[in-house]
Amino acid sequence: MFKFERFGLGIFKGMTVTIRHLFRHPTVSQYPEQRLNISRRTRGNELIWSRERCTGCATCAKACPQGAIEIVTAANTAENKYNVTKYRVDTGYCIQCGLCVEACPYDALFMGFSFERAKYRRADLVQEDDALAESPERPASGYFHPDIAAKLPEQTLLVDKITEKRKKQ
Ligand code: SF4
Ligand code: SF4
Repeated sequence: MFKFERFGLGIFKGMTVTIRHLFRHPTVSQYPEQRLNISRRTRGNELIWSRERCTGCATCAKACPQGAIEIVTAANTAENKYNVTKYRVDTGYCIQCGLCVEACPYDALFMGFSFERAKYRRADLVQEDDALAESPERPASGYFHPDIAAKLPEQTLLVDKITEKRKKQ
């Protein structure tokens, strides 16, 4: 049977697809150079803990279905309170359910959405004490905290960026 593919028809078909796509608007962003704001409704993938607000009540640890939170406290009789001497989260076990955040009665726990902090080693997934503090690299998400959600930048979608670009042209 006579086959056109033998005479370059396959290459011609491929080139037609390539050329057609050259004139189309992009459907992906050039990450990491081009970053889009993620949804305000994003729950997050790690915990943000506030040492100042935490009373060491351990409600979060009791609420965690994974047993991912470990708290050690020491009695501070002079000030009639507990000092938290260790607050440790094994994010390798965490399923990001957010139950600990919902359970905390003192607003000391938040979900964080710094999704770019991937680790190569299992041991590096264990976060402890001040490594759990909020920072520009570890912002708190608006999960269970609508006041924070309201302050987060609006979500940007690639389609919005394309429309913006078209308007400028
Ligand atoms: S988000 Fe869920 S699994 Fe993760 S530490 Fe909190 S309660 Fe545990
Ligand atoms: S529930 Fe909140 S205040 Fe209590 S130990 Fe956990 S983070 Fe601290």
